[in-house]
Amino acid sequence: MTGPKKVPAPRKAAPKKAAPARKTPAKAPEVSAKAAPKAEAKAAPRGRAKSNAKGKSPARRGPSPSDLLGVLVLIGTASLAACGWMKQGGQDGGDTQPTGPAGQVTIRFLDIGQGDAILIQSPEGKTALIDGGRSSERLRDYIKQFDLTTLDLMVATHADADHIAGLVPAATLKPRVFINNGLGGTTQTWERLVKNLQDAGSTFTKASNQTVNLGSVKLRVIAPPPGMGDGQNENSVGVAVQFGAFRALMTGDSETPETEGWLAQERDDLRGPFQVYKSIHHGAANGDSAAWLAYVRPENVVISVGTPNSYGHPTKKALDLYKQAGARVYRTDRQGTVTVQGSGDGTYTITTDR
Ligand SMILES: [Zn+2]
Repeated sequence: MTGPKKVPAPRKAAPKKAAPARKTPAKAPEVSAKAAPKAEAKAAPRGRAKSNAKGKSPARRGPSPSDLLGVLVLIGTASLAACGWMKQGGQDGGDTQPTGPAGQVTIRFLDIGQGDAILIQSPEGKTALIDGGRSSERLRDYIKQFDLTTLDLMVATHADADHIAGLVPAATLKPRVFINNGLGGTTQTWERLVKNLQDAGSTFTKASNQTVNLGSVKLRVIAPPPGMGDGQNENSVGVAVQFGAFRALMTGDSETPETEGWLAQERDDLRGPFQVYKSIHHGAANGDSAAWLAYVRPENVVISVGTPNSYGHPTKKALDLYKQAGARVYRTDRQGTVTVQGSGDGTYTITTDR
């Protein structure tokens, strides 16, 4: 079970501003509705290689016009108060923060067996859970382990069991807002989730390219492109995390048609590089592609996968793609929970349980 484990680095401690502070006093977070900062599309050579890699150029651009169409669809009990911290992705923001916001964003790719469950915590202590894995018991254990008492945001990338079962107990943390793809599930698990969220008074919201401010961390919700039909995988909701110059991306179990649809939109919020990227669909053969990876340009890929699993995940095809992309690969089945701590200047550390 000892995987690559190339990552040393302390877990919580010292804010490592490895890179020479490029100047400017740390900027106060929580600005306005500026969505993705500007950027150059061209990524500087990724200084790959070391584990505690320091991120490179932010390379981002403001969202394209199509991104401006986001519209909040509030279903169910709407406590509009929640909207105060939700901003529509919009104007081209010149979020030029050389050193970025203070503190660190922590992203944990939880080892929940086969499935996805990603816990994001802002420097201010705000929390978001993206999927919950297929085991409610394991998710419950993590709630205790991390002493979670509330949840600001819950996202179900899609309604498959390996993504929402763990959300059922997590819903008791009363997430203020719940975002999904707008397609309800057909299982009892889905029904239980909806019931718990209703009991919690959560606001149901459909993914619409909105930006959620989780404290000083911006979560860009990537809505499925049009024409995806009613299949769950192809309607996976994506989430792009942005914290100053640090960026991470996860898109559930998207299949090739969905990534092709996103590529056709030439979205700036999906244009790499991303320091951290979640392997699509647990490394399935129908998820990541060379064209997609060339666009998102991941420096590190985290595969959330269980062992054993009957799907053959991750596939050799996916692993080869990550290798060709020059990305370092982390796997929850071999290394346990993978924890990423990103700083506003784009530097980050990655640690694993084993
Ligand atoms: Zn899945």
